[in-house]
Amino acid sequence: MALLDDLRSHDIDVRAGTPGDAVDGRVPRLVARPGSTEQVSATMRAAHAVGAVTMVRGNGSKLRWGAPATEADLLVDVRGMRTLLEHQPGDLIVRAEAGMPLADLQEQLRASGQRLGVDEPVAGTTLGGLIASNASGPRRLHTGTVRDLLIGVTVVLADGTVAHSGGKVVKNVAGYDLCKLMTGSFGTLAVVTEATFRLHPAPDASGWATVRVDRDGLEPLLERLCRTQLAPAALEIDAPPGDSVTVALLVEGTTAGVPGRLAAARAEIGDDAELVDDLDWPWLYPFGTDGDHTGLKITCTLGGVATLTAGATDLGLHVRGSAGTGVLYAALPPGADAVEVAAALDTLRPLAADHGGAVVVLDAPRAVRDAVDVWGPVPATPIMRRLKDQFDPAALLAPGRFVGGI
Ligand SMILES: Cc1cc2nc3c(=O)[nH]c(=O)nc-3n(C[C@H](O)[C@H](O)[C@H](O)COP(=O)(O)OP(=O)(O)OC[C@H]3O[C@@H](n4cnc5c(N)ncnc54)[C@H](O)[C@@H]3O)c2cc1C
Repeated sequence: MALLDDLRSHDIDVRAGTPGDAVDGRVPRLVARPGSTEQVSATMRAAHAVGAVTMVRGNGSKLRWGAPATEADLLVDVRGMRTLLEHQPGDLIVRAEAGMPLADLQEQLRASGQRLGVDEPVAGTTLGGLIASNASGPRRLHTGTVRDLLIGVTVVLADGTVAHSGGKVVKNVAGYDLCKLMTGSFGTLAVVTEATFRLHPAPDASGWATVRVDRDGLEPLLERLCRTQLAPAALEIDAPPGDSVTVALLVEGTTAGVPGRLAAARAEIGDDAELVDDLDWPWLYPFGTDGDHTGLKITCTLGGVATLTAGATDLGLHVRGSAGTGVLYAALPPGADAVEVAAALDTLRPLAADHGGAVVVLDAPRAVRDAVDVWGPVPATPIMRRLKDQFDPAALLAPGRFVGGI
């Protein structure tokens, strides 16, 4: 056990993997729980020295996302790194360790009337997992995504090299914008250990205007709402199969301003609109994340939202997501098998491509992800492969999980 001894010699908390640590049914040989960037660096150096295939885990809520990785020798659990390192309220900036749960960060920011403008559509997300999965929710319309809010990262490369964005230049990653690269990288490029985010003031008040429309009414309503001067914080739809579509518009702002803007929203939407303080559904994806469900991410131009929604609901999928940004999430009926998922992809991928987007299988049972192409065609695959070769030439970080088997 050279790796175990090496890790212990650096005082790193390490133990044998247990069934509770399994990724896609495979139990990693070892689980390391480093407590600092330096310990992550020592961990990766030791793993690199023996060619150990490594996966990174935050809270594990999205470990199945992407294609199944090949066997992991080592699981690096970053949950021991959960400190808020720096908060400068005057500059609206926060720096924290990657294992910190997003909910904890938001809680700590609340006292100063600020927030990180991202949502938590899968409960329990750590900051590292948030970055690596580039998950987004309703407020991406207003504040953008992780990609827009992340202004600095510290990462550890597969060989143990520590690199900072905007700071020390590391020869083999010089010239890259690490923040952009790490966002959506699914743990295949490096281990994120610290992140710096731009913050927003938390609004004093908020409210939703909602309405149910039949499918013929969806496109004209969305077209109108996308052109309004209401500056909504979110524009969401919820479309169960065989039912009408709920459209919901979120207004956030000052206590004095929100009621007037909601009244204006109602005038725009129509007399049927309901005004409510809060809605549960927009904040959660329409699929469960317990391993039994298949959930898709569908992107398209704004003009394609109604068409993609109709196409997916016709197949029995439940669609929910951001009509204001063209990013939808869709759930197949629980227990859908690989044949059904493949059939849905065959229909939806050309439809999304016709509307400037794509369809990715986010979460699905292992048997489904083994049988279907979860990423679909990604034109930039050769560039991604070159990036992977520069960051992780020995392909030790979650190999196979990314586009094109990267
Ligand atoms: C497997 C994979 C690997 C990747 N690797 C890298 C990498 O290493 N480095 C890198 O830089 N990028 C990489 N990317 C690309 C990167 O992940 C995407 O560019 C990024 O996820 C886009 O994020 P997003 O959430 O803003 O948009 P997405 O949610 O992906 O949505 C994209 C599409 O939605 C629509 N859309 C979104 N927002 C709006 C809006 N405001 N208005 C109108 N339409 C909108 C558009 O059609 C847009 O093209 C990778 C992507 C994939 C799938």
